[in-house]
Amino acid sequence: MSYGTSYAGAESDYSDADAVFGGISYDRTSSFKSGAREAPSHIRRASYNFEEIHFEHGLGLPSLRVHDLGDCGDCFLPEEMFEDVAFNFGPAVRDGKFTVAVGGEHSVNIPIVRCFRDIALITIDAHLDSRDEYLGTPYSHACVTRRAAEHLGIDNVFALGVRSMAREELERDDVVPHITSFEIFETGIEKAIEKALDSVKKERVYVSLDIDGIDPAYAPGTGTPEPFGLTPMDVKKILNSVGGRLAGFDITEVCPPADPSGITSVLAARLVNEALSIYSKHH
Ligand code: MN
Ligand code: MN
Repeated sequence: MSYGTSYAGAESDYSDADAVFGGISYDRTSSFKSGAREAPSHIRRASYNFEEIHFEHGLGLPSLRVHDLGDCGDCFLPEEMFEDVAFNFGPAVRDGKFTVAVGGEHSVNIPIVRCFRDIALITIDAHLDSRDEYLGTPYSHACVTRRAAEHLGIDNVFALGVRSMAREELERDDVVPHITSFEIFETGIEKAIEKALDSVKKERVYVSLDIDGIDPAYAPGTGTPEPFGLTPMDVKKILNSVGGRLAGFDITEVCPPADPSGITSVLAARLVNEALSIYSKHH
């Protein structure tokens, strides 16, 4: 493939690949600012910024064979997007390939999680996303951890960096386990990730990064920016602490129309590389 059509370095055929990368161009339940559907192509372009090997993970790594699945999810209803995602990512999950997905809005995580059995989900997000339904649909970006809790059990879901929650999310018996960004500033990211990894029951951990979990100073290009967020280095430390337990990774809510400098897509691509490096290092 030529420059910009596939993720940088993702030149493997599906059958030979250890890992797959794919985009989900869906943003139809966005409540504030849409445009996340454009993120996959921007993140692919940004991926050509970087060296293939990141020295801090050790030079001379066996290089990972990555296949680019292309994009799916350019449809209207969330239910249609769910079918597309299951069709695109389901076989890769069943075939035991490491999966990296980029949204699209955060709702794209719901059908990805449903492709898996026996995982826990850790989200990095300014929002708890634990509503039963939002604006008339249970498949909104605001319902991601609630749907995951139904599929995996609430003791296999954990949210890091939360700093915006609705009363209805906190005044219930089954509040989704979480640590706020304010608490992380007090105790440090290492303690927070230790607590999250101790809290979940399953060995394999899928990490879903809603880019608004990171402070808008670093990741301004998103639909619902929220001050007092995590740093990119915090996210790097989270991924490295999950280490060999990492089952899959996604980045959602990058919104290119709100990111004229492109810096948010660059950060997203670098964190995709981080997840691939960690998987490569442990397998
Ligand atoms: Mn969010
Ligand atoms: Mn979210």
